[in-house]
Amino acid sequence: MGCFNSAYMMGPGERLFEQAASIQAVVGPFTVRPDGVKDDREASRYIAQVMGIVRMVETTTTGNALITAIRDARRPVLIFPLEQVDDTQAYAWTSPRMGLFAVAISFTPLFGQRLRKFLGDDENKFERVFIPQEVLVHELVHAARDVTCNYHRVDDDDEEELAVMIANMFSVEINRLPVTNYDEMDNVTGDISGFSRKYYKENFEMIEAFYRQNKTLAQQLSYSKSIFNPLRLYMDENI
Ligand SMILES: [Zn+2]
Repeated sequence: MGCFNSAYMMGPGERLFEQAASIQAVVGPFTVRPDGVKDDREASRYIAQVMGIVRMVETTTTGNALITAIRDARRPVLIFPLEQVDDTQAYAWTSPRMGLFAVAISFTPLFGQRLRKFLGDDENKFERVFIPQEVLVHELVHAARDVTCNYHRVDDDDEEELAVMIANMFSVEINRLPVTNYDEMDNVTGDISGFSRKYYKENFEMIEAFYRQNKTLAQQLSYSKSIFNPLRLYMDENI
């Protein structure tokens, strides 16, 4: 079952005619395939790293809600290495596509500053160094929206802010700081529950749209054991 939005043959920076890797592994609803990695040992290492990250993410209430939503949609999702040959300098990307997989996530688990150097980004632009788990959770939000045919049913900025909000819930759940917003990505220090309330008020319309479009997922996420949980505030005050 497909969505009525447009799907692409290729994601940004994806190489035309790149051979699909001959080895792959399945973890949860994801197929991990090390396309473009010529060395067998490197390819196996890529698979093992991604599988470990997915399994860790799934142990959190936030990550579990996302992966359950993707699994329940019963549409296959591919994870393959990031090919950064375009100008967007994304840490990772998620794109709907035609063919065997409904969604492709391009993700390579490089760490913080090394990842930024790799992407040629301005290292001073953002205060925050993201860990691979946080980068993956951000992409899983896009993937969950995608497999439920809701991707880009809010405007582009809100689609990104939604991913930032839920990645923030994950970060706080694992005792890391949230970031201010998609534009700044500075660490929030100080009172997290106060920030949660402020964020909820400032992003009320986005949160309400998300609740209407992904009700089951929004409810599951509202149970997340995160102190930063604008969805719980929304549920408490509106449902
Ligand atoms: Zn994003």
